[in-house]
Amino acid sequence: MPAPSEPAVHVHSVQEEYFYLMVHRCACGGPWHTEAQEVQDAPGQLAHRVEARCFKCRARRSFHFILDSHGGPKGPVRQVNPTCDPSRALDAAEWLDLAQFYLGRIERLKDPVERTQSLLDARQCLEEALKFYGPSDDAPPAPALWSDAGRAKAAASPETFRRAAIEAMLQRIPATERLRQADKTDQRAFERGVRELAKDRVGRRWWEFWRLFRRNT
Ligand SMILES: [Zn+2]
Repeated sequence: MPAPSEPAVHVHSVQEEYFYLMVHRCACGGPWHTEAQEVQDAPGQLAHRVEARCFKCRARRSFHFILDSHGGPKGPVRQVNPTCDPSRALDAAEWLDLAQFYLGRIERLKDPVERTQSLLDARQCLEEALKFYGPSDDAPPAPALWSDAGRAKAAASPETFRRAAIEAMLQRIPATERLRQADKTDQRAFERGVRELAKDRVGRRWWEFWRLFRRNT
């Protein structure tokens, strides 16, 4: 039976796709892994289809992503969204959930590079949540929450969703550039890979290169 098809989801990066897959788990609760993928490049837009299979129950699902004005491999590794536009893939509650997940796992991590990567992910997820807030919003505006579950979360813990609380968390995390420097092992490997790709354009394709940076969490 073919995998059920999904409506296309607009994203800013392959990293945002990864977070989308993390949040939209299989109905059984299992995480997805990518079995196959296909990319169609069009002017100013790139369509990315991901065939995923559940680790737990082996169900298949097909995800369709649209990367608007993608920059290919030019951005830093793990960059989520270089623009000020809020995400069209995940809402504020989902970004805050992801931020809490990455902040929560830092204590369990022994490897300093992994801790840095987790901080970088947490920082970017908090920044994505904030992009939904207008300059005068201290609570998330209605368009920031897309589901009853998200609205219920915000109503249950309004303190977590206050702009001041998100900003205070960001202030405790080192700046993005500092984290990227500390994450230099991956960044160097990434840049080297990009240079290799530039030399050998018919070889591996840049979105395949991204797979090297996937982690199991
Ligand atoms: Zn499953």
